[in-house]
Amino acid sequence: MGKKDHAIFGGAVFCDNASRGASGKIDCRGVFTSFWAWAYPTSTRTWHAIVTLYNLTEGTTSVTAAISLGRGKKTTLAHGDIQTSKGNVGNVVNMPLRFEFPREGLYTMYFNIVGTTTTLKVPLRVNTQAWPHFTKTQLELLERNPRIPHSVRANVVCSECGKPYVFEESVLPEPPLASGVRPFPDSGVIECEVCKHRLNLKDIQGQVRSSIKTAVAAAVRGEK
Ligand SMILES: [Zn+2]
Repeated sequence: MGKKDHAIFGGAVFCDNASRGASGKIDCRGVFTSFWAWAYPTSTRTWHAIVTLYNLTEGTTSVTAAISLGRGKKTTLAHGDIQTSKGNVGNVVNMPLRFEFPREGLYTMYFNIVGTTTTLKVPLRVNTQAWPHFTKTQLELLERNPRIPHSVRANVVCSECGKPYVFEESVLPEPPLASGVRPFPDSGVIECEVCKHRLNLKDIQGQVRSSIKTAVAAAVRGEK
């Protein structure tokens, strides 16, 4: 194989969700370039990298995905295999990824064709969102307007063992929680009951509060 035939990357994009559609192509939903985070380490963030490759040889090509913050240590996140048949030298791989970001900053994702030095670097930014506090006006509006949600639930799945949990964030004092629903812990962390993995919840709690705040802010604007 001549040098010009070596496998190369076309590019990569990040999206919230992706699956193979009826046509055989990959459908991406929610393409993004940065994450918003409410606390660190973040909750387990899940996303997909859609990576295109060219000049593949027939058979299996393996690609790995890794991440680092600045020039820090690389963490391998995923491994993907692409099957290439004769005459089909370009291909697309959908790599599901998950990571708990330790802090804000400009991360780099590295995609490497296994067994070669061919690497694609793609930046990925993590930005901090201010903790959603509620003003007196907003709380008063919530109190007299039952149509705006006062509380929001979040489904959290342990990233290690898959045990599901339901947490509820309430801005106003609410009746006792339904069975199986827990309040967010003050510490922002719980240990999984099954596998003892530490689940970081502050980030999700901030996200949930933010969704309530957005609804309240819209309602305050509507009342003016
Ligand atoms: Zn677990």
